Amino acid sequence: MSIQFVHETRPQRVRFGSGGAATALSAEFTLLGITRAMVITTASATAAADRITAGLPVVLRYRDVAMHVPVEVAERARSAAAAHDVDALVSIGGGSATGLAKAVALTTGLPVVAVPTTYAGSEATDVWGLTEGARKTTGTDPRVLPRAIVYDAELTTSLPVAMSVASGVNALAHCVDSMWAPRTDPIDQALAVEGMRALRTGLPMVVADPAGLTGREHTLYAAYLAAVAFASAGAGLHHKICHVLGGMFGLPHAPTHAVVLPHVLAFNGPAAPEAARRVADAVGGPLPALLDSLEAPKALRDFGFAESDIPSAVEAVLPAVPPGNPRPVTAEDVTALLHAAWQGR
Ligand code: NAD
Repeated sequence: MSIQFVHETRPQRVRFGSGGAATALSAEFTLLGITRAMVITTASATAAADRITAGLPVVLRYRDVAMHVPVEVAERARSAAAAHDVDALVSIGGGSATGLAKAVALTTGLPVVAVPTTYAGSEATDVWGLTEGARKTTGTDPRVLPRAIVYDAELTTSLPVAMSVASGVNALAHCVDSMWAPRTDPIDQALAVEGMRALRTGLPMVVADPAGLTGREHTLYAAYLAAVAFASAGAGLHHKICHVLGGMFGLPHAPTHAVVLPHVLAFNGPAAPEAARRVADAVGGPLPALLDSLEAPKALRDFGFAESDIPSAVEAVLPAVPPGNPRPVTAEDVTALLHAAWQGR
């Protein structure tokens, strides 16, 4: 079969090195000419943020961050950025902190430097997300793509094991969905396969030795590859389902991905056998076996999703089914999938 595709890369500097965040961040301030930074962090990252930005020109330290970026939280952050006349946004934290920086960049065009402390991967995408009421909206815009990423695996050692696993499986979901998402191409798939391989290596090490750096480095490296693949390939069925669950029911992002992923793979896999084979090869066998060995979250009912929520979720998922999904998706299919995810493996 001939190889033919159009692949677009996204311009971004990536600095990767354990223990190097302060030096790397300082280099970015110099390169980007930052003189009035707004540092956006979650409570969990406050101490790390203070340490790695010590001595840098920070005019605002901002902590009003919330999961899935509610519109009113974004508006408050935009006002604060304007009031302090900031010239750059530095996010230090998980996807929620990165997401808020992106929401400010979306309307202001301010450059973002991202220092991730989870494996969510938002730092490597031009995807923004906002939640209004119970509805999560996402879009893409080159302005929200961070100009630079500073990866320091030391910053992730404080992420509790269960959260690390869920977040790592969120990265795995970026990889799996990238195998059949609407714009997938051979480069996305190569990145995704290498990401899955690195996750299969890294995550068991994180579970066995949460303070050890090697497993954290493999997992963080994978998180980047996964997000680059996802940014290029677009959101597949898995992400569309998780966006509905997160936005409508306020379910926690990473655990929701961890629960839903094997059900989407079981649904799409038979219609995309080559992708399913590459996933299995990369993760070393059936995905549920890896998830079980990591004690990944198993059931949506453990996270506040009720069986009675399934019909309204189905109604919201159906119009969002991505074009080109490996197989058609009916209301019955989504109902069965969500019921299985609600009940648990
Ligand atoms: P999060 O940022 O909300 O973090 C989860 C929890 O972990 C929080 O309580 C946080 O304070 C804590 N935490 C983070 N880092 C820690 C650390 N190193 N040590 C201890 N605690 C730590 O969650 P997340 O899973 O990183 O990100 C989820 C959000 O990111 C969602 O809103 C999701 O939609 C978004 N997201 C966006 C993209 C994108 O491309 N736009 C990609 C992935 C995720």
